Amino acid sequence: MRTATLQRYAPDLTPCRIDLSDNTNAWGMPPAAQRAIAGAELTPRYPTPYGDDLKAAIASYTGMPVEMIVTGCGSDDVLDSAIRALGRPGERLAFVTPTFVMIPAFAQLNGLVPVPVASFTDLATSGGRILYVCSPNNPTGAVVTRGEIEGLLGATRDDQVVLVDEAYAEFAGASVVDLTRMSDRVVVTRTMSKAFGLAGLRVGYGIARAKLVAAIETSRGPYKVSSVSERAAVAALSDGRDWMTTHVTLAIESRERLAVELRARGLEPLESAANFLFVPVANAVALAARLVGKGIRVRGFSEPSGLRITVGPWPVMQDVLDALDEVRQCE
Ligand SMILES: *Cc1c(COP(=O)(O)O)cnc(C)c1O
Repeated sequence: MRTATLQRYAPDLTPCRIDLSDNTNAWGMPPAAQRAIAGAELTPRYPTPYGDDLKAAIASYTGMPVEMIVTGCGSDDVLDSAIRALGRPGERLAFVTPTFVMIPAFAQLNGLVPVPVASFTDLATSGGRILYVCSPNNPTGAVVTRGEIEGLLGATRDDQVVLVDEAYAEFAGASVVDLTRMSDRVVVTRTMSKAFGLAGLRVGYGIARAKLVAAIETSRGPYKVSSVSERAAVAALSDGRDWMTTHVTLAIESRERLAVELRARGLEPLESAANFLFVPVANAVALAARLVGKGIRVRGFSEPSGLRITVGPWPVMQDVLDALDEVRQCE
């Protein structure tokens, strides 16, 4: 069985006063999205197979033509479908560690061999049919520059595809989506789960040349975005855009203030372009467990050891700092 060496995704779900463990939007979602669902009149019919209304809204938001857009049940679905469409069983999928935890699993589930490499320059020589690049990277928050991605395309063969995961692009204020116009070797994925606050509705999308989009849609299958989710996402992308940018600004302010406070405590959070900070600390998994005891859930990583803290409104960040001070004192 392909799943023999894999496990079900099982995040800690015990109730916790403050949950900053999954980088969802701590401020909520655009009111326009909520209104769209509350007033949704539903029919007994299927939605369009590949989400035509959603594609139109994404086209207007990204400035890309509808033929270059593929939607999905979260960007996880788009990543999984893209890997299945663009890689063949036995081929390699390379990525720099640490990165998004689902990627090795999606590789294996589609018969590809996950190949972790230590640095970005190693990607070019990894022999990967698919080269996964997460920017800003989860869990570190680091950005891969346009120049680096162009360099990677130049240093690799025509049959190698660069899969760029831009789940946090809105927070970074930068994107390489336009590279998909020039190259048929680039796929960029995005999500409505983070800056737009729609994680519960499961909506993501990918951007690539029309030929790649057709292949990814074929491997994805029809009807992956529900009518309700599509309506909420369309509303978020049209009337919810101001809400999104306002709250991205608040997240960045919180993140930078949190970084200052952490540095004042002798910690060294990594520079982040996303809505979270990675804070290298020893025994992070044990520390995260002690924070749960104080009512605060963040994500503890063991390799490298560190806490990934989603940012939220400042009073919540102050609670995190207070709890961190308490649990570190007991060390
Ligand atoms: C959160 C996240 C996703 C998005 O997942 P969805 O399936 O769209 O909710 C994708 N990639 C990375 C790196 C993420 O952190």
